[in-house]
Amino acid sequence: MKRALVCGAGGFIGGHLVKKLKREGYWVRGVDIKEHEFAPTQADEFLKLDLRLPESCWEALTVPGGTFDEVYQLAADMGGMGFIHTAETEIMHNSVLINVHMTRTAAVMGVPRYFFSSSVCVYRDMKPGEPEMTEAEAIPANPDNEYGWEKLYSERVAQAYSRHYPMQVRIARFQNCYGPEGTWRGGREKAPAAICRKVAEAEDGGTIEVWGDGTAIRSYTYVDDMVEGIYLLMQSNLEGAVNIGCPQYVTVDELVHTVAEVAGKKIHIKHVPGPVGVQSRNFSNERIYSLGWRAKYYLKDGIARTYPWIEEQVKRSNV
Ligand code: NAD
Repeated sequence: MKRALVCGAGGFIGGHLVKKLKREGYWVRGVDIKEHEFAPTQADEFLKLDLRLPESCWEALTVPGGTFDEVYQLAADMGGMGFIHTAETEIMHNSVLINVHMTRTAAVMGVPRYFFSSSVCVYRDMKPGEPEMTEAEAIPANPDNEYGWEKLYSERVAQAYSRHYPMQVRIARFQNCYGPEGTWRGGREKAPAAICRKVAEAEDGGTIEVWGDGTAIRSYTYVDDMVEGIYLLMQSNLEGAVNIGCPQYVTVDELVHTVAEVAGKKIHIKHVPGPVGVQSRNFSNERIYSLGWRAKYYLKDGIARTYPWIEEQVKRSNV
């Protein structure tokens, strides 16, 4: 039986990845600084550890009779645009420490395969209508925020170790990911979850506040598609960074309309100042497509699976 370590298993994508690996027949250890907020872990074993500390990385990676066959590194000090803009120093400090120590420890302990969760935040801003950007175009680098710079640096740390140790490294650059069992309030939530929450809280015919002018263009990837992509990439021979994202691009206002349609509510939008991030996105998926991956859930299908879960959380929090 293959053994996998999932770092960040108490988080949104890590929690879903644990379930996927269990379905694939792995023995899974999950590690996180906190337990999962919304669902009991499905990992065979769960360790609560602070992966900023090298000794915690050693403990996480130590299993009887050797080390793990596969390590999936998804732990990060992470949040949506509001968090990224206010917590720059925490991101630069905490996520760098996690990645520097985890990557080195995994390499030294002889882990044969290591996955790193990067982000399309490594790319520069784009203009609406610009042609697709490929992975190679992340360099020369000009990310819009410190989160992107941290990811780019940590990608390079992983690649450097793969050149000097017999550790295969796989790197995915995720587009925005959403789905049930993700953060939906508290300041770290991302746009799809925040908008689902606001729509769930609003009356039919009501108004919700949306940061910016509503024209920013994004792609949103449903979490089941994301974990399929992660797994396929990890099993493949594809070296270098690989974009994973749904090819459907929408404006923030279109995202709101989709959520409102799924909720069956008429919703008015009030645009207010707030951290929006880049203006536009358009990325090539050719590398992940070469492995046979395709997004199965377009926005409306994914929101139809996400909104009821957030609506339920909102109802429960009001009782
Ligand atoms: P998340 O915040 O739900 O999960 C990250 C987990 O890391 C959390 O459970 C957190 O407790 C844990 N963590 C933080 N500091 C830690 C520490 N010191 N030691 C141990 N664990 C620690 O975020 P997510 O959305 O599941 O993202 C997973 C990965 O994917 C992250 O690396 C993130 O940057 C990347 N990513 C996510 C998205 C997205 O849209 N969700 C997009 C691009 C990239």
